[in-house]
Amino acid sequence: MAAKRVVIVGGVAGGASCAARLRRMDETAEILILDRGPYVSFANCGLPYYVGNVIQQESKLLLASPALFRERFNIEVRTRHEVLCIDRAAQTLQVREQESGREYSQPYDALVLSPGAAPICPPWPGVDLPGIFTLRSVPDSRAMRAWIEDRKPRKAVVVGGGFIGLEMAENLVHRGLEVTIVEMAAQVMPPLDAEMAEYARQRLLERGVKLALSDAVSAFEAAPNGGLLVQTKSGAAYEAEMVVLAIGVRPETGLARAAGLEIGERSGIRVNEQMRTADPRIWAVGDAVEVRNRITGQWELIPLAGPANRQGRVAADAICGREVRFEGVQATAVCGFFDLTAAMTGATEKSLRHAGIDGYHCVYLHPAQHVGYYPGAQAMHLKLLFRKSDGRVLGAQAVGGEGVARRIDVISTAMQMKATVYDLEEAELCYAPQFGAAKDAVNMAGMIAANVLRGDAELAPWAEIGSTEAFLLDVREPGEFAVGAIPGAVNIPLGQLRARLGELPREREIWVNCAVGQRAYYACRILAQHGLQAKNLSGGFGTYRALHPL
Ligand code: FAD
Repeated sequence: MAAKRVVIVGGVAGGASCAARLRRMDETAEILILDRGPYVSFANCGLPYYVGNVIQQESKLLLASPALFRERFNIEVRTRHEVLCIDRAAQTLQVREQESGREYSQPYDALVLSPGAAPICPPWPGVDLPGIFTLRSVPDSRAMRAWIEDRKPRKAVVVGGGFIGLEMAENLVHRGLEVTIVEMAAQVMPPLDAEMAEYARQRLLERGVKLALSDAVSAFEAAPNGGLLVQTKSGAAYEAEMVVLAIGVRPETGLARAAGLEIGERSGIRVNEQMRTADPRIWAVGDAVEVRNRITGQWELIPLAGPANRQGRVAADAICGREVRFEGVQATAVCGFFDLTAAMTGATEKSLRHAGIDGYHCVYLHPAQHVGYYPGAQAMHLKLLFRKSDGRVLGAQAVGGEGVARRIDVISTAMQMKATVYDLEEAELCYAPQFGAAKDAVNMAGMIAANVLRGDAELAPWAEIGSTEAFLLDVREPGEFAVGAIPGAVNIPLGQLRARLGELPREREIWVNCAVGQRAYYACRILAQHGLQAKNLSGGFGTYRALHPL
């Protein structure tokens, strides 16, 4: 039976979707949303573009107003009402109305916590200086816009090279600022494997963004000229008139902790598959909760809008007594900056290693988003991870232009249906010249991987390229080879290979590369059928360059 009075703390992604679903399931419930901010249901994901003036009107970020919730859904929304604590025994919340300072007790029959996550802001010396910003809310973005418009800063430092950091970098460049990104990891986009993030690094440098990788901020100082000095652990100092901290978020667990609800190993609220906490009357959703990674089985914090929305819906159904399960998260994410798209789903090699999972293969490919003969074809870089034992797809990452997000979405959906690489090679996808190829990038990834599992094209391990005793064979044309090659490789173009087999050793493995992997695969098939021990360097010289940047 539906709870009579459902109170939801936080009215944005998880909270708002929970409230709306609840109403669709139950016309009789009293539904109340409490949010300490001035807005509910606003587009957090659009905030960087409002700072960049790509989105010009603030009103575009406001997806639903309290009036709309009231009129359309019969849901009461109280903004600027902060929940201070939960009394689980009495089933009440202590709430402060921020404008008046008045405090009151709010009863509930069912409580949903969707308080989100706060930007991490370490207590670095000087972190409170004017001109240093974090971005979470509409007022945060408004403050940044006002700073840009009033102070006309020339230089900005973005601390953190993750998804939000890169979106901010692009938007600040769009506003005419010179941007330096300071990132503690040795790569931008830390969730990606390093060689895939390399394409992003190159694009940032091409577009004039300065990068300080493997370095961390230590302090901020007011500079004599009125700006800021960003000091780093390496001893470097960067001048800026504006700083954006984008070093990640921390789940808002204060209310849950104080109420004695379980907090998990990753510091998020622990919930079951119905998004319920250990208290049968309290549910929690969104950035504040830990989720099971569907691939590694580990508890993780995955602060993304899609999972928050789906969890809100699951919690609503569970409150209404429906049999529902949240199946966990695959961390499917996408980010665009400087005309580049980087997207991922499932595990990376990094996350597999971290989870202690081996027994996987990975293949690389660099297909165009559509047939080469149609104008505008551009290579994308795709990495597919799959299980050796049965070909189950474990994860994919892609970086490139048009079409990247579509390929990752297809693979993500297939993975959620427990697809193998054999399913990907058979996937029927739409095709016309301007959209793809009769053998789509997803099919190609499946075929390459399936060839490996069937033993038709063994993989040479890229990790051993610097130390191997294998004979390195490059089957590209001499002109391509002259521009750059793997050190020690011998060039025999594919077209000459059959005639020059005698030049190849029979007693050693032969590791074959071309530009992207296709000619090397043909070469491996020729060599194998002549009794030679050939292995393919997946992704060819394109992958070598990403693994060994200049
Ligand atoms: P939120 O949407 O953060 O909502 C939490 C609400 O709870 C807030 O309004 C807060 O005021 C309120 N609240 C907290 N504590 C209390 C309290 N004690 N009392 C009352 N109210 C309280 N995700 C993507 O998938 N793709 C993107 O492109 C993307 N871009 C992003 C860009 C930015 C700049 C940001 C900040 C986030 C982005 N995200 C993106 C993440 C996405 O916005 C979050 O995953 C999602 O909003 C989480 O939903 P939530 O309901 O858990 O929390």
